[in-house]
This record gives sequence, C-alpha cells and structure tokens, in this order.
Amino acid sequence: MKRLDCDLLVIGSGPGGAMTACMAAEAGRSVIVVEEGPHLKVDSAPSFSLGEMDQKYRNAGLNVTFGGTSITYLEGRCVGGGSEINAALYHRPLEKTLRDWADQTKIHGFEPSELWPHFEAVERDCKVNLFPQGNGPASALLQRGAGKMGWSTREIGRFWSYEGEGPRAGFLDGRQSMSVTLVPRSVRAGARLMPDTRVLELNRSGNRVSGATAVTKGADGRPERVEIRATSVFVCAGAVQTPRLLRRSGYTHNIGDTLQLHPMIRVTARFKEPFNELDWGVPTEQVDQFKPALTLGCSYSSIPHLALWMGAQLGNKQDRLRDWRRTAIFYVAAVGTGKGKIRDLPLVNEPFIRLPLTRDDLARIGEGLSRLGELLFAAGAEEVSSPIEGSKTSFRSAADVEQVARALPQGSMAVSTIHLFSSAPMGSDEARCATDSFGKVLGTENLYVNDASLFPSSPAVNPQGTVLAVARRNICEFLA
Ligand SMILES: Cc1cc2nc3c(=O)[nH]c(=O)nc-3n(C[C@H](O)[C@H](O)[C@H](O)COP(=O)(O)OP(=O)(O)OC[C@H]3O[C@@H](n4cnc5c(N)ncnc54)[C@H](O)[C@@H]3O)c2cc1C
Repeated sequence: MKRLDCDLLVIGSGPGGAMTACMAAEAGRSVIVVEEGPHLKVDSAPSFSLGEMDQKYRNAGLNVTFGGTSITYLEGRCVGGGSEINAALYHRPLEKTLRDWADQTKIHGFEPSELWPHFEAVERDCKVNLFPQGNGPASALLQRGAGKMGWSTREIGRFWSYEGEGPRAGFLDGRQSMSVTLVPRSVRAGARLMPDTRVLELNRSGNRVSGATAVTKGADGRPERVEIRATSVFVCAGAVQTPRLLRRSGYTHNIGDTLQLHPMIRVTARFKEPFNELDWGVPTEQVDQFKPALTLGCSYSSIPHLALWMGAQLGNKQDRLRDWRRTAIFYVAAVGTGKGKIRDLPLVNEPFIRLPLTRDDLARIGEGLSRLGELLFAAGAEEVSSPIEGSKTSFRSAADVEQVARALPQGSMAVSTIHLFSSAPMGSDEARCATDSFGKVLGTENLYVNDASLFPSSPAVNPQGTVLAVARRNICEFLA
C-alpha cells in the first residue's frame, strides 16, 4: 500500500477544511487535504443546472432523512464542498446566538468580541459583497410585499466578486468559493491537495490517531489504497459525513446524535407582469421581520427549478412553465427543533438519518407559510403553488394559504434542507459535547473536528460564514 506522511491531515475541502488547510499551510505546516469528490473549475457547469448536480452534488442531490416527514437534503461533493454549489449568501450570526451557544455547551473563549476578527478576515479573504447596483426584480417583489405588510427586509451580502467590465460584471460568474479562494491559497503555501480520494477509516493507536486509510485514483485510473500518516488529523467532512467517519472509526461519544437543520418549504408564485430575469443570479433580499425563528426569501427561478417546486400542480405544469417570466420561487426557512441521529449503513455505504420534524417545527413552518402567502398576495401574486400533497394544488388568496398552513400534515409535504449542523457539538460540557471548546475530540490527543458539525445548535442564519469563522478560530488556537 502507498504511504504518505504529513503534519496535518485535513479530511474534506469544504469551508471548514479549506480554512483549516490554508491557515496551517501558511503557518509552515506540511498539510495533505483529502477530498472525496473531483477537482473541477468553478464554472465547469452552469450554476444550479442538472449538469452541476451530477458533477458536484453528493448522489446528484438525492438524499433523504427519515422520521415522520422525509426531508430531502443537499450536500456538495467536490473540491470546495458546499461552497461550490450554494447561493453564497453571507451573514454574521446575531451576538445573542453566539452567547447562547457559549451558554448551551459551555464553550471557553467564545465571546463575540473574540470571534468578530475571524468574521472580518473571512469577509476580506472570501470577498463578501453586496450587489453593486440594486437588487434585481424578484427581490423588488419581495420588498414590495413586505413593505405593504409593514415588515422589514434586508439585502444579504454574498461570497461574490463583481469586478470586471460592464454593468452586470460578475453577476453570474463571480463566485468566491473555496476552489477560487482558500484552496489555491493552501496549495500555493505548499499543501498537497488529493481530490478523488475518500477516507475509509481513521487509524487509531490508543488515544491518538496515526492517520487514515483512504482510497484514491491510481495512475492507471483504478482505485488504489493509500495510508496517510499524520501528526494531527482534522475531520472536516461536513455535518453528515464527519460523524459517519468518526463513528465508523470507533468514536461515538455524543457523535452523530444531535444533527440539526433548517427545514425549508418552497412555493412558486405567479404574478400579472413579467419580471423573472435569470441573469440577475440569486435574489439576495430576505425578510428580516421574523428572524431568527423564520426567514422568508426568494430563490433562483430557472425553468427546471420552477418545475421542481411547482409541487402538486403536476397536471398543468407545462402551461404554467410557459409563464416562467411571470413566476418565481419563494421559500420559508425555519430554525428546526428536532435532533437527528446519524448511523452508518455499511452494506449500502450510505448514512441513515432519523430526524423527526417536531410539532413545533410544523407550527413554525405553517406560520412562515401563512406570512409568505400574505406577502406574495400583497405584492400582487395571482396564484401560489401548494407544497402540500393531497390539498388544493394552488392558492388564490392569503386566506386560502392560511387555512392549510394552520395544520400542516406530517408526512405529506415537500420539505428540504441545505443547512445541516450540530452533529458533533463543541464545548466543555462533556455530557453534551463531542469535542472540547476548540474542536479536539474528547478522549483523544490529536484528532479534531473543524466544520459545521461543531455548532451547538442552529446559527439561525445561512451557515457558511460561521463555519469559516469558527474553523479559523479553532485552527488559529491549534497553531498558536
Ligand atoms: C444547495 C446549497 C445551498 C446553500 N446555500 C448557502 C448559502 O447561500 N449560504 C450559506 O451560508 N450556506 C449555504 N449552504 C450551506 C453551506 O454550503 C454549508 O453550511 C457549508 O458548505 C458547510 O461546510 P463544511 O465544511 O462543514 O462541509 P461541506 O461543505 O459539506 O464539505 C465537506 C467536504 O468533505 C468531503 N468529504 C466527505 N466525506 C469525506 C471522506 N470520507 N473523505 C474525503 N472527503 C470527504 C465532501 O465531499 C465535501 O466536499 C448551502 C448548501 C447547499 C447544499
């Protein structure tokens, strides 16, 4: 078997792994970054296309949780992880959220004033920017509806660069994902990047890990086993795969028992006048009024996406898709209260996740759906699709939406998520945590987690900015 040696083995090249590798390599450590997925250019497929799903999503986007209502979840599987495929929306969490986290699991050194410098560095290094000119027609509709209801909205910054010639420079191709920012920086600083390489197991030796066994693509393109020996190992494989790998390697204390997520439902809304223009990219306005529990917003609304989220309107979808210029997708994202267990299913090589959508979740999503209905009809919608099977296929008034939203049926709704976290929480409360306050797995000397798994609970905002900032905090502490 081929053998490699390094100081730091980083497993996964998403935001958590890319930040870990970059800071360690720039501090002069010898780093190997192992990534299961391929290394593709950021523009190897059009954003939000089926081609992109095939290339860069785990299982082309077909993953579900079990328990009452199945929740479809999406994950990146390529160099850069989720940052390559996401909407790139950036938030700092509320100061209150950070303080609540520190209280919940007793995290040392987690004062907001200690964290803001890491957020500032993320904003600088991964180029967080607002749209340079207005905010697009779908966002304007959201603002109009919210304005009529007296609700506040806000434009959200993105990991995006709008440099270049012309009025729409960067709108579609300015993504500042990990493969554009921190991964090339790591490589320039000497890190070795190994794409198409999947870690099968961590190699234990008492309370230390000596490295990991992985399967990579050999020179002849065939799978080849490789043993990577390391002084320290950072698992940054994302909130589902990190606990899976740790459990498979025999680490189980509070690992994979508390997965949390933001359940989302989407509807399509048709208006009288055409407004949908794809070359504005992702609409970045969100309704602030009901945060942190609920976020309302609009999504990129290409014809395939509209078809996906028209829900129960199967019969006459084609007619409706002809109206795509008058139609867009809107969403409700809630802070979920359910906690999920992640277990490895060895024979099918997939994780099994049991995560109930609680009554509180149903009530919260229902509240969000009602509010969204009010907003959309106030903005001038003619028709809103229903995300619920077996009910009306569409709604014609806010009262119609409210009637259904009051008692959402468990098990018959199209619920999805793109935000997963909290499956290996950090802190000094050993009864609740999987790692110490800086990500070191309890009971080990040189094994760390540094990704979304560490969050004690929901960040209540789009999570990538917090993944990056917390990972930066932890690796800085390690290197100090
Ligand atoms: C469609 C979509 C839209 C989103 N939109 C936003 C948004 O607008 N704003 C925002 O803040 N967040 C958004 N998110 C969420 C955000 O992308 C994630 O929170 C973030 O990527 C999590 O970072 P991570 O480092 O924890 O894990 P990931 O990004 O999941 O990276 C983990 C990496 O590890 C690799 N890996 C896993 N197992 C192994 C193994 N055994 N061996 C080797 N490699 C392995 C995976 O292939 C993956 O590349 C979105 C996510 C999706 C899917």
